[in-house]
Amino acid sequence: MANKGILIVAVSQRASLPPATFELVTAGRRLADTLKEPLAAVVLSEKAAALAEDLAACGVDKVYAVEHPSLANFIGPVHAQAAAAVALKEGFGKVLLVSNVAGRALAGQLAVRLKAGLAADVCEILPDGKVLRPYFSGNLIASVEFKSPVAVMALAPMSFPRAEAGAAKGTVVPVAFDPGSPKIQFVSYQPEAANEIDLGGAERIVSGGRGLQSEEGFKPLRALAQLLGAAVGASRAAVDSGWIAYRSQVGLTGRSVRPKLYIAVGISGQIQHLAGMSSSGTIVAINTDKDCPLMQMASIAVVADYNEFIPLVIDEVKKRKGSTAVAA
Ligand SMILES: Cc1cc2nc3c(=O)[nH]c(=O)nc-3n(C[C@H](O)[C@H](O)[C@H](O)COP(=O)(O)OP(=O)(O)OC[C@H]3O[C@@H](n4cnc5c(N)ncnc54)[C@H](O)[C@@H]3O)c2cc1C
Repeated sequence: MANKGILIVAVSQRASLPPATFELVTAGRRLADTLKEPLAAVVLSEKAAALAEDLAACGVDKVYAVEHPSLANFIGPVHAQAAAAVALKEGFGKVLLVSNVAGRALAGQLAVRLKAGLAADVCEILPDGKVLRPYFSGNLIASVEFKSPVAVMALAPMSFPRAEAGAAKGTVVPVAFDPGSPKIQFVSYQPEAANEIDLGGAERIVSGGRGLQSEEGFKPLRALAQLLGAAVGASRAAVDSGWIAYRSQVGLTGRSVRPKLYIAVGISGQIQHLAGMSSSGTIVAINTDKDCPLMQMASIAVVADYNEFIPLVIDEVKKRKGSTAVAA
């Protein structure tokens, strides 16, 4: 029997689905309509039944809810076992995951179990079934063709719009799962600071570099980020100086991000930094040096000392937010 249908693998984090999961729904729906095949999802979670309803409400035709306490925290082999059971039983031809830390780990293990071809960091799915993905820090975009009957694709966050609940509602099917005796056990979870937005799925990022001159320099950036609902990023120079944690580093040896808005403050834009953010939508650079690489490639380049300019931006955003509230 030929493999048919598209399966989204949705992995919950702290009992909720990462926003990028809903980007998979958009990509999956486009693919399903092009191939005229059904779109399904499997939710792996200790709260799968409730989360499955959210995907069904976004028009996924059939959502398999694999609910089990062993799926509360990500354990690669356990999640792969649960997802593979559904994929093999139903014979899906295309499997979509989010290309985040858990998704990439799961994609590899799933590809082995399904004897499937695998592409990670996919940024586009072409009508002929090939996919585009970056190599060499985005300097080369490769077109990948799957030769295997089953294709596993991990999609880069922010590559597709997020699906929203609509008129078409799919069905939810509970699936029993027995993990057996896993060889890996979950030990503990260390949450990030309260209210911190993860860089990977952020639509807006305010990033700071050596030009901030100190840890103090990040204070106005954090204030601006909070107003904009943005994540805070940094250059390696700022991280190496100890002003901000490594998890905030953007670039070759940090995170790759694709927000709609990237505000770079006091960052010169060396190639290793650009490697992590050049696919952003609108890039705003604020710098005293009008000739530095980031100012040259930015959509909006502001020649200014951040000490003077960021407070003005904060005041303006507050003013506009205030007037919106009054108008509403
Ligand atoms: C193998 C390798 C991997 C690397 N990986 C990464 C990586 O992942 N991410 C990364 O970022 N870097 C990485 N780097 C380091 C990279 O080469 C640069 O050194 C680093 O990005 C520079 O950071 P910066 O732009 O903050 O600092 P600088 O290059 O020193 O730039 C500071 C900027 O601040 C501006 N400025 C100064 N004062 C003000 C002010 N008051 N207001 C506004 N602007 C001001 C200056 O004009 C300047 O443009 C890597 C390097 C190597 C060799």
